[in-house]
Amino acid sequence: MLRRTKIVATLGPATDSVESLEAIIKAGVDVVRLNFSHGESEDHIQRANRVREVAGRLGRFVAVLADLQGPKIRIARFSCDKITLNAGDCFALDTRLGTNDGDQSAVGIDHEAVINDTRKGDVLLLDDGRIELLVKSNDGVRIECDVLIGGVLSNNKGINKKGGGLSAKALTDKDKADIKVAAQFDADYVAVSFPRDASDMNEARALLADAGSEAGLIAKIERAELVADNEMLDEVIRVSNGVMVARGDLAVEIGDAELVAIQKHIIQRARALNRVVITATQMMESMITSPMPTRAEVSDVANAVIDGTDAVMLSAETAVGEYPVEVIEAMNRICTGAERSPTTQVSQHRIHESFEKIDESIALSAMYAANHLKGVKAIVSMTETGATPLLMSRIRSKLPIFSFSGQLHTQRRMALYRGVQTIPFNAADVENEAVNRFAIDTLLEKKVVENGDLVILTKGDYVNAQGGTNTMKVLRVGGEIR
Ligand code: PGA
Ligand code: MN
Repeated sequence: MLRRTKIVATLGPATDSVESLEAIIKAGVDVVRLNFSHGESEDHIQRANRVREVAGRLGRFVAVLADLQGPKIRIARFSCDKITLNAGDCFALDTRLGTNDGDQSAVGIDHEAVINDTRKGDVLLLDDGRIELLVKSNDGVRIECDVLIGGVLSNNKGINKKGGGLSAKALTDKDKADIKVAAQFDADYVAVSFPRDASDMNEARALLADAGSEAGLIAKIERAELVADNEMLDEVIRVSNGVMVARGDLAVEIGDAELVAIQKHIIQRARALNRVVITATQMMESMITSPMPTRAEVSDVANAVIDGTDAVMLSAETAVGEYPVEVIEAMNRICTGAERSPTTQVSQHRIHESFEKIDESIALSAMYAANHLKGVKAIVSMTETGATPLLMSRIRSKLPIFSFSGQLHTQRRMALYRGVQTIPFNAADVENEAVNRFAIDTLLEKKVVENGDLVILTKGDYVNAQGGTNTMKVLRVGGEIR
């Protein structure tokens, strides 16, 4: 069975050699993530080029996702690199302290948002929530705190506020420069960190357009404010091409107990609004140092699949982990296993809605027919922009969707869509009347269908025109095909 759920792997030192990159792509990576929080522009450009080279050689379509750092607020550094805080200690964040001058009593901060948005009684979370500080006072330059939960605190660790509300603007000067870098290597997707609302996404879209890029935009959902307001969340999803359930920062702000229900909500909204969704962070955390996932990790990945995510993401597991290939193999196995569950194959999608567009109606009718007509083994979409397979793949099904497209950007971008397999196709090479025959022959060659099977095919009157899908046909393999 073909895996439907896609795998996003973050690149880093563990996957920088051509051999290991080749190994993880062979093992099943669909999208690579370049994490702009680490490394220089040159590293990312080289990684993107290497991915394109290896994927091309293997005949695979792998999308490149540039993940912008965003306004992650961090403490400065310690003169001795790290300290240990104990519950009950006093500790301060001080804007006057030099960058490297932190000690047992205080550390520097360089972000105004911490000073502006912090009040007595707030709880500040350091290092992904490992350390908790209760704010006692804030005089505009120095925040005095009591340590609630202690631990080791080292240089440049992140700061969040419980409940959210550190209001730094999403796109920093570094992000703006990195958008140009992403455009330069023709990123397929760009992810915006910590967007506050739709306007942050629109700004990123405009900057990308200025840089000459048409990359898909992914909003990382990682602020408490965004998930507290259903309308604002929908708005952010609508102006984006997809979202990421960025569980690392999100859980720090909203608390881990809320996270699971919120993940399900975000995935459901993204699918209902015809956008893609990636579930991220700590999915296989133990595999950074172990060749086997824990049962809890297996369950987490499988549940994201059952929730309907398009993709599951790996961070440190493939960037710096000891088992980058094993972790992809494990994810591949778990996703495929979870996809056998009937709940992932039965759809209630938009059953009470009316549709605006012809291609949308054809896409959804095709899926209804495919899921209900006995004998259908595959769906084919002849597509320029990938819009029809995107709409189709919002619907639960166990049938593979084969997207025939001649556009390189479409071919790569579809690597993220659940259940969609790209097949390169040059409309100029095939007569209009021979297109259906060509599609069936290709599926026969790939051994995904055999004589007697049914295939549902959608296309427009002109195969290389945009947005023109207006036809659906049921074809019998081995029969007369027109
Ligand atoms: P990050 O985003 O890894 O860039 O922080 C993902 C997350 O917060 O979960
Ligand atoms: Mn994050």
